[in-house]
Amino acid sequence: MRYVSTRGQAPALSFGEAMLTGLARDGGLYVPETVPTLSHAEIAALAGLPYEQAAFRVIRPFVAETFTDAELAGALARAYAGFGHAARAPLVQLAPGHHLLELFHGPTLAFKDFAMQVIGQLFQLELARQGRRITIVGATSGDTGSAAIEAFRGLENVDVFILYPHGRVSDVQRRQMTTPTEANVHALAIEGDFDDAQARLKDMFNDHAFRDEVGLAGVNSINWGRVLAQVVYYFTAAVSLGAPHREVDFTVPTGNFGDIFAGFIARQMGLPIRRLVIATNRNDILHRCLETGRYEMRGVTPSISPSMDIQVSSNFERALYLAYGRDGAAVAQLMDELKTRGGFTVSQGALQALREIYASGSASEAETSATIAATLAASGELLCPHSAVGVKVAGEQLSAPVPMITLATAHPAKFPDAVEAATGIRPPLPARMAEFLTRPERMTRVPNDLAALQALVRERRRI
Ligand SMILES: *Cc1c(COP(=O)(O)O)cnc(C)c1O
Repeated sequence: MRYVSTRGQAPALSFGEAMLTGLARDGGLYVPETVPTLSHAEIAALAGLPYEQAAFRVIRPFVAETFTDAELAGALARAYAGFGHAARAPLVQLAPGHHLLELFHGPTLAFKDFAMQVIGQLFQLELARQGRRITIVGATSGDTGSAAIEAFRGLENVDVFILYPHGRVSDVQRRQMTTPTEANVHALAIEGDFDDAQARLKDMFNDHAFRDEVGLAGVNSINWGRVLAQVVYYFTAAVSLGAPHREVDFTVPTGNFGDIFAGFIARQMGLPIRRLVIATNRNDILHRCLETGRYEMRGVTPSISPSMDIQVSSNFERALYLAYGRDGAAVAQLMDELKTRGGFTVSQGALQALREIYASGSASEAETSATIAATLAASGELLCPHSAVGVKVAGEQLSAPVPMITLATAHPAKFPDAVEAATGIRPPLPARMAEFLTRPERMTRVPNDLAALQALVRERRRI
């Protein structure tokens, strides 16, 4: 299977190449040339399988030319061994017709672990095979960075640099990035917000000489491997509620659109997902775009769900590419307008295509807090603020008899201040990770400046 760029001007790549490359050289994102499907019987046969085995069956058609069955199975076994729950992604019921998919039992307590642990394993296999070394640079609003550091720490042929917005991540998130002691881990606190960090990251990728010099690789959700690994839990959750014999809806707390786009891929593979609901916090560019057709940047407003404090939602480009009938030139033009004029208007046809699949809603800060309290009272489930945004928006979209599955994207203990303010309860970290709160921290403050960042990467990476 080949992977093509959403802007139509970069060469098609294999899975292994697309994974190591991250952003395409024309500035676009890689998507599969065609999406493989699972038959009704193949989907039904996922019922009751251990998570790793379901993952094998869902991922295999996308990677078979790069990895053998034994390599893939081994990578998945190692990826999920460190999770704190035997089911990996347990589904719990919140209310009649409303279920919560708990994606926070990985080593850094957010759903990012599901994909990052897998690509950590796949990167190792591919780099060893090619005798290459790489420099990973990632931008994070908090959870991607900690998950990446956890997945790549200590690897011989990888250096990891993570840019996070100084002062805008939670204590737990920061400590997960600043306490690892391995020499290949570099936590960089940038003067700016997440969009600044992501913009500098894209600048580094678009500087092709620098990119080749340091062997730059990306693990942000623009990396196709990340999206792919996230497709799996849509299958396991839907099948446990009766798919493929029954339709389901999903609501996804959304920032960079990687997680919900994985749901779209699951749907294209044949999973009967009726609607995918985009849940945003007050940084609601996606909700506004679905409502009005106008995708327009406004400043980022910090919120109690910081991992969704975003205004440029990178993976939305993949959804646009498909909504525009795989017209790379049209997507390139929209992205150019976004860069030069701060926004663009989605064509009527594409907007209609998006609305057939996606619905959307947003939650204010007060609604988010109120949902944390109300959910605790009604079900005993303690939600993180991101998951609460999802539950609030899902509540507006319930339509029996189709069950709703809301993704719980982080553990409440990762955002204890917001949870305590809403409920009076300060959620404790799981016992397996409590000790890291007392370890010394290590990080470097950096300006929001491309040349300074490039100099730092050159100087710090181990040759
Ligand atoms: C990353 C993240 C999100 C947003 O996911 P996207 O794939 O960027 O849309 C939501 N909640 C939490 C806790 C996250 O870490």
